[in-house]
Amino acid sequence: MPDFLSHNAALEVTDTPEHLSLHLPYVIGYSVDSSHQDIGKSAGIFIVLSNIWMLLNIGRALNSGWPLQIQGDATFKVCAEAVGVLGIGVNSLGASNHWLALAIIPEDRESAEMYKQTWISISNAFHMLMTQYRKCHRAKCSVCEAVFSVKEQPHVQELLQDDDFNIRRILPVLLVDSDNSEAWRKFCREVLNLPADQCFAHLTGNICLAFSF
Ligand SMILES: [Zn+2]
Repeated sequence: MPDFLSHNAALEVTDTPEHLSLHLPYVIGYSVDSSHQDIGKSAGIFIVLSNIWMLLNIGRALNSGWPLQIQGDATFKVCAEAVGVLGIGVNSLGASNHWLALAIIPEDRESAEMYKQTWISISNAFHMLMTQYRKCHRAKCSVCEAVFSVKEQPHVQELLQDDDFNIRRILPVLLVDSDNSEAWRKFCREVLNLPADQCFAHLTGNICLAFSF
């Protein structure tokens, strides 16, 4: 995984005005296999994109005090290229989904493995953000304020004392749901050891889910 915090580490050494952006996307996981490009016209590309704000949604969800619940879904035909987009998010009151990351995946390749690799990228990046991010020297910095206002809350502080997270980078997910995707259900069973619920909108046809970053 690319060290997306190396930019921040450089700040400590050089004290340049360079700084991680709160909203600029970073690659937090990738795999590109050109040999796959001839298989089913599907590009062998897998790129997980996120930013500081989106990763902090994990901490915000934990700090709410509610059980940590994640959702996942994938969509295709989003552009002329043979790729799709897969996303994993956390929910909040108001039936809102807040993305943690979006992955560019090969066309029609929604699979438990794609969800697993995306989730590992998210868990690793959040762990890195919570354990390696260092405050800059600015008197007022919106990025540092955003990170530490989440990190210093009791539930995230509790997480940072947990070996499952500190050593194994496992996030305490208790609930999972999605549409009718068997790929998602398989990922939940095999990676999270959880049974997947079906979201209200897909179960009833009553679309009330809102998306937010
Ligand atoms: Zn800063």
